[in-house]
Amino acid sequence: MATAAVHYAAAAVTDRGRKRPSNEDAFGFSIEHGVYVVCDGMGGAAAGEIASSLAVAEMMQPLTHRDGSNPLPADAEQAVAAANQAIFSRAQRSQKLSGMGTTLVALLVEDRNAWMLNVGDSRGYRLRNSRLEQITIDHSLVEEQIRLGQMNRLEALRSPLKNVITRALGTQNLVAPDVFELEAEPGDLFLLCSDGLTRELSDSLIESILQLDVPLDDLCSRLVSAANEAGGHDNITCLLVRAGA
Ligand code: CA
Repeated sequence: MATAAVHYAAAAVTDRGRKRPSNEDAFGFSIEHGVYVVCDGMGGAAAGEIASSLAVAEMMQPLTHRDGSNPLPADAEQAVAAANQAIFSRAQRSQKLSGMGTTLVALLVEDRNAWMLNVGDSRGYRLRNSRLEQITIDHSLVEEQIRLGQMNRLEALRSPLKNVITRALGTQNLVAPDVFELEAEPGDLFLLCSDGLTRELSDSLIESILQLDVPLDDLCSRLVSAANEAGGHDNITCLLVRAGA
């Protein structure tokens, strides 16, 4: 029996937050091509903004112009490598941009097949049957210490090292993303977000907001408002993708 194709809808909001002078987050998506990206840049002056917007552009360009000769996740991994190179070489050409980098989390979908890729501590989640599940694993010092049993989640949240990421785009010659293969079901809701959301809101609060029966763009706005009400210490970006029948 043939199953009906899965169709997707998406919305995103990015916000400076309440403390930072500028917004170094960036996002991009194409529902038609099944590509969704969130990046969180870092670096002095305008460098973080340049790194994150460059990464989004370097992902979107090839992934919305595929010739179909390679599988989507292979093309996506190649796009991540190209984005890394583009940021790295741009940073090397300019003293001002030296050391800039960005996180990246991406969702790729092709009917029921879905993949999440990440570098750094921007996260991908899936809400299914009212349960929120974090799909990606942060590339951060505290996450590594948790995995080694040297720290618990609460200590991680309070750690002065919580901002230290162990993988980023643009800071080294080569970087590989982690790739998570998923199967999308109608009703699934995917969330890609920067740490400005997840540092302010617990997963259980995010889960309860995502269950509200309102349009996707309202869900994004509510997440951002809640993060701002909780302090808005960092830039906040959320991108929501819903799988429908
Ligand atoms: Ca951030």
